[in-house]
Amino acid sequence: MLVTRVIGGCPACNTADAFGNVLIARDHILRGCKACGYSEEIPLPRLSKKVIYLDQFFFSAAFREKDSRFAEAAELIKKAAANQLLVAPYSSIHEDETFQWRGFDGQTKGDLMEFIKATSRGHEFEPSYGVERNQVIQAFKAFTQDESKEFHVRRKTVLRSDINEWEDYFRVEVGSYRGDVELIRNLKTQSIEQLVDDAFPNWRNSTSSFQDHVNLELADAGRFYIKFYIDYVARIVSGDYTAISDSPIVSMVVQSMLEFLPDEQDLASKIALIKRFFASKHFANIPHHWISARMFALLREQVRNGAYPKPDEAKSRLSGLFQDVNHISFYAPYVDAIIVDQPMSSIVNDGRLDISSRYGVKTFSLNNWEALLEWLRSLLEQMSVEHKAGLALAYP
Ligand SMILES: [Zn+2]
Repeated sequence: MLVTRVIGGCPACNTADAFGNVLIARDHILRGCKACGYSEEIPLPRLSKKVIYLDQFFFSAAFREKDSRFAEAAELIKKAAANQLLVAPYSSIHEDETFQWRGFDGQTKGDLMEFIKATSRGHEFEPSYGVERNQVIQAFKAFTQDESKEFHVRRKTVLRSDINEWEDYFRVEVGSYRGDVELIRNLKTQSIEQLVDDAFPNWRNSTSSFQDHVNLELADAGRFYIKFYIDYVARIVSGDYTAISDSPIVSMVVQSMLEFLPDEQDLASKIALIKRFFASKHFANIPHHWISARMFALLREQVRNGAYPKPDEAKSRLSGLFQDVNHISFYAPYVDAIIVDQPMSSIVNDGRLDISSRYGVKTFSLNNWEALLEWLRSLLEQMSVEHKAGLALAYP
């Protein structure tokens, strides 16, 4: 038997230094003897880990700027993760962003990847395009089967692995780089230049209401799905089969919806049904669309009220806007806590969005940094006696 952590003599054959922990399996420790093969199982208490979503803003401040406030939070997150209390799952968006940190020294990137590994503990978020497709299909099923308009948030959509398993000594490392996939997806996101130069002047003079703008964003989202799908089909029809490999992944959302419908239904009626869905409450309640439509509508209102008057300053302050909207709208509904920058904090805490109340996620930013540190410390302080005993047995 391969004893990973020797703890002493064997209770069966009395061989000295032959007995110890072999492995940790989900909810128990397997102990054994390398001399006689005797083994026993020790049950471990149930875990209830919190999930925190960290984005580039946090990584950049903690590792590039080495801001002491962030470094303090990073230490607590690492400690809570090592104590089986918290995970900060890995996201392929993280690596894209690290990848975009041009001019960074290797040490900083190395420190960051080490931190990501120590806090993700082998857990990985589904990529955003997978979350998007799942959310649309889930809502579409509910729509076609006349089920509730409310979207039921299931953590499995973003995290396939069970975070509440006790962690084994050898974890599967995350971090296979899938950059191209996400980069292709980013073709869809408009540039911040376009937003500030083209949209902001219109927003300043706009007289439409917040709700009008939300409706406009939602209508655009549905139209985009159809447009991307039609572009894809048009390429295939014209004989351009490279479309299969290089079309934006979002092109396939409508395809997935069509596949869900019965074969005998004709295409025209399928498309009509999909269009009705895009105009429905079921679609409007999809978390990614519900949140992102409101984030843009709130930003528009800030601009109309005079925020971001200087284009250059606006571009610099909002440089990560499209990524932030993606991070928050895709992952916030599924996690216990998320850390955002100050411009995003004023948006996500607005009463008309208020993701904390709607999705039960704690939102932290420099506006309430002490609350973040307190939350992390309380996780460590509130460890039960059983939990501490489990840690001592599992990781001697
Ligand atoms: Zn033995």
